[in-house]
Amino acid sequence: HIAQDYLLYVDGVSVSFDGFKALNSLSLLVKPGEMRAIIGPNGAGKTTMMDVITGKTRPDSGTVVFNQTVDLTKHDEATIANLGIGRKFQKPTVIEPLTVFENLELALAGKRGVFAALTHRLNADEQARIDEILELIRLTDQRDNQSGALSHGQKQWLEIGMLLISEPKLLLVDEPAAGMTDEETMRTAELLKEINKTRTVVVVEHDMDFIRALNTKVTVLHEGRVLAEGSLDTVQQNQQVIDVYLGR
Ligand code: ADP
Repeated sequence: HIAQDYLLYVDGVSVSFDGFKALNSLSLLVKPGEMRAIIGPNGAGKTTMMDVITGKTRPDSGTVVFNQTVDLTKHDEATIANLGIGRKFQKPTVIEPLTVFENLELALAGKRGVFAALTHRLNADEQARIDEILELIRLTDQRDNQSGALSHGQKQWLEIGMLLISEPKLLLVDEPAAGMTDEETMRTAELLKEINKTRTVVVVEHDMDFIRALNTKVTVLHEGRVLAEGSLDTVQQNQQVIDVYLGR
């Protein structure tokens, strides 16, 4: 494999915490335009993997290359976010007293801060961009409502919308379906498929109905490395995967 073929090239990455190997020569190769689902039991290393990609955790060894040339092990979190990697954490960070629209405005203003965001007059392009995202996340009718009044699922979609404002090349999504109703879960799968038409997506999730709805390549992590990779049907028939999930 060469990094040139991939948007995200993670190879031989190891991370230890006090001698415990959270990642043990992990590899994850994601092509431009792909959507990849990451599954694995608790403690498999999914969060640590996301932390390495986003610069929150430095690997002890291994290669992490983004967009063919950028060595992600050499940059901090803020720089990596600016390079075009958006990460959605499990817990929404929308600012609840602000409206849905204001949260998106704030995301657009980014580092200029809250005051700049709320006093800055949007130009027509910026306005159109926010409207387009509101449609995508299905919150157009909630535009001027306080985001604190949204359902849990709607807050998660708003959060995804806020990440999309900065047009990331790679969107990392951590357990989006956690705490969602079945309907919200399926809607979230549809949303990620829509986003994947123009962006590369890596999503960590436990919910198998959600993973099935994504209908995409699955990577199974276990003990800090890749146990299996392929379609959901293929990995679910893998004896090692069955053993790990049944705790044998
Ligand atoms: P997952 O997200 O798949 O549940 P994690 O990446 O959170 O797995 O954790 C992998 C392993 O590394 C776990 O055994 C966890 O306890 C350990 N671990 C993660 N972060 C730290 C840390 N900061 N210090 C010590 N151990 C950690």
